Amino acid sequence: MSLEFVHDALPGRVVFARGARRRLVDEVTRLGLRRLMVITSERQLDLARALTDGLQDRLAVSFTRVLPHVPDSVAREARTLAEEHSVDGLLSVGGGSITGTAKIVALTSGLPIVSVPTTYAGSELTPVWGMTTGGRKETGRSPMVLPKVVIYDPQLVEGLPRKVATSSALNAMAHCIEALWMSTATPVTTLMALEGVRVLRQGLDELVTDLTPAAFENLVLGAYLAGASFAVAGSGLHHKICHALGGAFDLPHAETHAVVLPHALDFNIVAMRADSATRLTSALGGTDAVESLRDLYRRVGAPVSLAGLGLTAEQLRVAIQVVIEKLPIENPRPVDADAVRAILTAAYRPKP
Ligand code: NAD
Repeated sequence: MSLEFVHDALPGRVVFARGARRRLVDEVTRLGLRRLMVITSERQLDLARALTDGLQDRLAVSFTRVLPHVPDSVAREARTLAEEHSVDGLLSVGGGSITGTAKIVALTSGLPIVSVPTTYAGSELTPVWGMTTGGRKETGRSPMVLPKVVIYDPQLVEGLPRKVATSSALNAMAHCIEALWMSTATPVTTLMALEGVRVLRQGLDELVTDLTPAAFENLVLGAYLAGASFAVAGSGLHHKICHALGGAFDLPHAETHAVVLPHALDFNIVAMRADSATRLTSALGGTDAVESLRDLYRRVGAPVSLAGLGLTAEQLRVAIQVVIEKLPIENPRPVDADAVRAILTAAYRPKP
């Protein structure tokens, strides 16, 4: 088969270094921003204050009432505040919920975003926004929400609690693995995704065996490669399942991705391009991709069941129905109602 692809490269500047947070003032100056709105959470407020120490004359207002999945009431409040204070830029400091709030303000205002991520969610690299209205999460793509600059400082993730870090890194792993099997994957997204899998696996192992600064560098680099590959290749079955679970039952985002990933991979591995499957297996450091991933989960103590995340049997039934209603779903292996039922049932209470 001859090689053919369309790679829609996305713009954006990335500054990556231990201590990169100290370059924030230069980056804000480079963009000519003079009235920033800082978007963060109460929990990250001290960090945001420390980061913006040299920017006092350019801070117009702070917004800290961030909630997961950006409820529309939070979006309204943040947008109004930005308008009232005539801000000319948004500085987000935190995980995906915080980046998501900045994106929703940028979507309607066109304000540029400077993003300082503190988890491995990868949202800062994608043009995807999300907002929840009446319990339903709506998502979309817009170039307006893509940050102008992302500052990756591996020192900023050192304080993430181990459990949060593990699930968040597996959320990034899910971006990489799904990017590999999408029909929109390109040789460039595949390269990024495979290297993402490799450094995430290495960083996760180092989290439990050899906690040096290199572990955090690997994990943050993995998050970057995950976001960058997923941003171009798009999302399919795995993300659709997690989205349905998160939206309907408010399950924790990163943990849900972590639990579903081995089952989505188990289902799709036979239908992946042979070269991608072989390279994935090698990036996971074994001879069988699914088993290598499961081994990694055992080594790092990752969450493995939806029941363990609090999903009830009745909710499982509803979740299966919600995903079935989304069919047809773009996927390398055709997905029918039985397949959805099998994947979700296996993820609910996996066999020991
Ligand atoms: P999150 O932002 O809610 O953070 C998870 C937890 O980590 C929170 O309790 C937070 O307080 C804590 N935390 C964050 N940084 C910390 C730090 N440095 N030290 C200690 N604790 C810290 O969750 P998330 O998993 O980062 O992001 C999930 C959200 O991002 C979801 O809404 C998801 O839909 C969205 N997302 C969007 C995209 C996209 O492309 N649009 C991609 C990935 C995720």
